[in-house]
Amino acid sequence: MNSQITDSIISNHALEEKLVELKSFGDPNSLVISCYLDMLSGKNACESFITENLRQLLDHAPSLDNDTRQTLVESFIEKLHQHWHPQAKGLTIFCENFDRIPEFICFALPQNMGNQFSVYTKANILPLLTLKDERLNGSVLAYTDEVIQIYDINLGQIRPMAWATAPRLSKTRHITVSQDEPREFDKRLQRVCLSLLRSQAKPMLVAANAENLEHIKQWLPRKIAWKITDTIELPYELGHSAFSEFLQAYFQQQKQIDTRRIDENIKNSLHVKGATVLGPVSTLEALRNQQVDRLLISPTENQRVNTHCLHCNSLLVKPMSQTCNHCGLSIQEPWDPMIEASWMAEAQQVPVIEIKSDELSYLGGMACFIKQKREADLIPIKPAPSKGLDLVA
Ligand SMILES: [Zn+2]
Repeated sequence: MNSQITDSIISNHALEEKLVELKSFGDPNSLVISCYLDMLSGKNACESFITENLRQLLDHAPSLDNDTRQTLVESFIEKLHQHWHPQAKGLTIFCENFDRIPEFICFALPQNMGNQFSVYTKANILPLLTLKDERLNGSVLAYTDEVIQIYDINLGQIRPMAWATAPRLSKTRHITVSQDEPREFDKRLQRVCLSLLRSQAKPMLVAANAENLEHIKQWLPRKIAWKITDTIELPYELGHSAFSEFLQAYFQQQKQIDTRRIDENIKNSLHVKGATVLGPVSTLEALRNQQVDRLLISPTENQRVNTHCLHCNSLLVKPMSQTCNHCGLSIQEPWDPMIEASWMAEAQQVPVIEIKSDELSYLGGMACFIKQKREADLIPIKPAPSKGLDLVA
């Protein structure tokens, strides 16, 4: 068994490449096993999850002989060990062609997507799409302890990229600055920011304590100011060693606020016809018409296998055939609205938000916000300065 650590944790750039690879995984006549593992639960728990779910699945596949079943379980366990990474929180294993010569796409994730197992004619990319959240993939300019630091956020992983000692800003609310000093500070701060942000093209958050936040916002060079999407007010006593932890907690808190707001929106739209579309059928229709602004999904159950023959319960290894190859009765084509919706969302670059909401679960676990008419009519243009771009890039 190959026990070397082959992969690093996936980045947002590599994730895009994997999604392209996964698009060609499986076909209407062959199934894909998609497995997400909670690495925080440990290797043994992951092994048990694989063994239990895969054995259960293969027990219903009478066309596969015992050796093929055993080899497949062993291959999954081998992939688990090969791609295990001490800093990763989640692991994915996608497998196609499992009744012939199995092929795999596996990678470690910086976030835990829980234990999930599904079988369908397409890979289940839904958990991966939730990682594309803008908040999990931006950058932060933080001023703490008289140091300006630029952090890169990649699929929720926060890493310091560059830093510089900044001119001394005020630490308390009671500072007096002479009339001439701000100009000098201004120039020095702008130089620092420009040199740090030269290669940053991502949306940016600015974080500092309340008073310095105002200073920084005023002093940021105009060439950079357009990147700022939001500001974070830091506690006065927060030093840069505790910053990453603070930011993680801040994002969690923001996610909870978002979830409450979306949940309210869904509840309200039950009574008022508006810009929210509820339920899988209407949502898929809206996706087909390219009207979706954001796709909302509730967390899916741990195991989703809906590719069985309804008559004899055997796994439809050839889902597009007219009859079950075990009992010979006619079969219904398997259909998973969640996975179908996720691939449509991916093709149209529609953001996917996972929220825990009783209303949403009751409505079949899927809803969406519709694009506002004005937005839908416009071609999206990335905000960029028309002049001075060469100085930033
Ligand atoms: Zn059957």
